[in-house]
Order: sequence, then structure tokens, then C-alpha cells
Amino acid sequence: MQTIRIHEFGGPEVMRLEELPDLEPGPGQVVVRVKAVGVNPVDTYIRAGMYPAPPFPFTPGFDAAGEVAAIGPGVQRVAVGQKVYTAFTLSGAYAQQTLCEEAQVHPLPLGISYAQGASLGVPYGIAYRALFQRARALPGETVLIHGASGGVGTAAIQLARAAGLTVIGTGGTPRGRELVSQQGAHQVLDHHAPAYLEEVLKLTQGRGVEVILEMLANVNLGKDLKVLAPKGRVVVIGSRGPVEIDPRDTMSRDAAILGTSLFNTTPREYAGIHAALAAGLENGTLRPVIGRELPLADAPRAHQKVLEPGAYGKIILVP
Ligand code: NAP
Repeated sequence: MQTIRIHEFGGPEVMRLEELPDLEPGPGQVVVRVKAVGVNPVDTYIRAGMYPAPPFPFTPGFDAAGEVAAIGPGVQRVAVGQKVYTAFTLSGAYAQQTLCEEAQVHPLPLGISYAQGASLGVPYGIAYRALFQRARALPGETVLIHGASGGVGTAAIQLARAAGLTVIGTGGTPRGRELVSQQGAHQVLDHHAPAYLEEVLKLTQGRGVEVILEMLANVNLGKDLKVLAPKGRVVVIGSRGPVEIDPRDTMSRDAAILGTSLFNTTPREYAGIHAALAAGLENGTLRPVIGRELPLADAPRAHQKVLEPGAYGKIILVP
């Protein structure tokens, strides 16, 4: 099988397509024949050596979708031939096959494409975790999705709308803002426009929003705290550096800044996330948006694209 391998940390060019033997499942394991791979910003941080990584050489990637090719002894939840998506893997997702623990594999509901299946694990996982497990968002509250045009943002819009929240979403390009609107945001703002956060106060009659999902905290956290409602919660999903805040903005509101990482999710929390995603995929409220599909060999280009401005849903690799 073909797989992307990384032998050293570095730029996108350190990812090379290589041929490896087919995978064999051990007890409790599943081999998935991969039809689509989701590219996430975290894949680029790991490739660059900025995050903990497996020993060299390794295959990057967490999110894949495809068919079950083989199951090991004791596997009960899935059968050979079944369509599934992964949420983490044992062997890496950027490949024609991936090895998973049984609990990392979830059935792909009817009508959901492989590319959409490969968009679920990390983006929908963290969007759900941020909204409901960290912020404990409630129907009737207003959420600002600060960076709503990408993989996590579009997932968060759909999840928040389905749960009865009012959604304000931001995008950096006209195309991205159009997508944010199509996905169901009630109001759409341009995060590059001067003083755009004053609009958040106007849209909430001066009260501010109860929840903020923040994709770029190093740029926005200080400003976020000024548009929070009393008892508001900011969830830091993404950050690429330090930031200065005025702590008094949290005191005056009894506000909370909540960090989150999908890597901290417990097995029980995972089970909750994927049960909720299954329900949303089945009732049609969750529909991942695919912006671009590239061949697996173009993984280096995908890593450049995923960090460029102008996000539009997900970037998918096709093995
Ligand atoms: P993505 O698809 O590349 O989207 C990035 C988003 O950030 C886009 O909506 C982009 O908007 C927006 N953005 C750019 N500049 C911004 C600004 N000044 N203010 C607000 N938003 C801005 O990436 P993703 O997969 O959605 O991930 C988003 C972030 O969350 C990344 O930093 C990622 O590493 C992080 N993340 C963290 C976890 C975790 O476990 N904590 C899990 C998944 C992702 P435009 O391109 O339209 O400007």
C-alpha cells in the first residue's frame, strides 16, 4: 500500500510517498481501506516538530474514511466491508490503509461521502467538545464563532444551530463569509474589518455573547473578553503565539477562559461526541463542507494550503 512517510521534521517537502506492506489487524484492531483523508492544521505542527510526534519514520494524520478491510479477533462493533470514519488511528491516516483500535472507528451513516467522513474526527470532535463539554452552551445563548469558514468553524456553526443557539460567525474573505452564511450563521462579520467586534455588541443590544469559540487566540483573546456577556465563556481552540489580555475584563463579567485540546478527551467523552455526531449526521443537521480534494501524493501542497488565509471548509487527500 502507498503511504506518506516522515523521516525528519521540517517543511512540507519532508513528506514522501512510499510503498509499505499491507496492514494486519491484531486483537481488537481494525484495518480500514482509506478512500479519503482529512488534512488538519495540527498535522502541519507535528510534521514541523512543534508538537509531540510518533518515532520516525511515521505516517501523519488523524482523520480518514473508507471501508473496513479486515478485523482482528474480538472486534464486534464493525464488520468487513462496512463504511466507517476514524477518530485517531494507530498507524496514521495519510495512507491507502490505516490500522485502528476498534473504539477509534465509527460507522459512516448513509448519504455521507467518504470525504465528508474524513472531515469529522478532529474538526467536529473539537467543535462539539468546545461548545458542549467545555463552554456548556445552552439553547437560546449566542455564540461568536471567531473563524467560522474552516473545518472547525463550519462544524461549529452546524452544531450550534442544531442546538438552538444564535450564531455570529466570522470569515476573512467574501467567499468564506458566504459559506458561513450558507451554513446557517445568523450574522456574519469580517475578521479583517476595522472595529468589527463593535458589531457584536450592537447585534446583542450591548450585552455581548455568552460563548466565543476562538480559532486564533494570539490575535483575538484580548478583544474577545470585551464582547463577552456576564458569565461568558471563551474557549481557546486555536492559538499560534502569545497575547496580552486585561484580566479585569474577566473579573467585571465573572467570565471564564477555557482552553481545550482534543488530546485530553476521555474515552467516555469521546463516546458522547461520536454518539452526538451520529445523531446529527442521521437527521441531516450535520453536513461537512469539502473545499478542495487533492491526490495523496500532493500532501505537501495540502499542508501549504491549510495554513493559508481564505479557508473554505475542509481539504481532503484521496489515496
Ligand atoms: P482552517 O480550516 O484552516 O480554518 C482556520 C480558520 O481561522 C478560518 O476560519 C480562518 O478564516 C480563521 N482565521 C484566520 N484569521 C483569523 C483571525 N484574525 N481571527 C479569527 N479567525 C481567523 O483550520 P481549522 O481546522 O478550522 O482549525 C482552526 C484552528 O483550531 C487551528 O489553529 C487549529 O490548529 C485549531 N484546532 C485545535 C484543536 C484542539 O484540539 N484544540 C483541534 C482542531 C483544530 P479565513 O481563512 O477566512 O480568514
